[in-house]
Amino acid sequence: MNKINIMEDAVKKWQRIIDKKGSDGGVLDCPPCRLYYFTLCIGCPIAQYTGKKFCKGTAYIPWFRHQLEKHDKMIKKIYCPECEKLARDMRDFMIEIRDHLIEKKAQEKGK
Ligand SMILES: [Zn+2]
Repeated sequence: MNKINIMEDAVKKWQRIIDKKGSDGGVLDCPPCRLYYFTLCIGCPIAQYTGKKFCKGTAYIPWFRHQLEKHDKMIKKIYCPECEKLARDMRDFMIEIRDHLIEKKAQEKGK
C-alpha cells in the first residue's frame, strides 16, 4: 500500500469519527500507526511530514488531551462540540498530508 492510500484511510477514519459512526482507537486503528508504529514510528508519513515522532506537533495531541481531561472514557469519540472541532482539525490535517504526498508524487513524475 502506498503512503497516499494510507493517508486516504486516515482521512476516512477521522471522517467516520466526525460522522459519529466511529471512535478513535489510537495506535490500534490508525492506518499509518498499524504499519509504522511497531517500528517505533519510523517511516510514518505523518512523522515524515512533521519531522516529529508519535504524532507530536499534530492535531492529534489536542484531541487526545481533550479526551483525557474532559471525558476520560475508554472509547475516544465525539462527546461534545469541542470534540467535534478537534476531530475536524485532525481530519483536515490528514487531508493536508495526503495532498502534500500527491503533490510530491506529481513533482517526481514531472522530472
Ligand atoms: Zn469533548
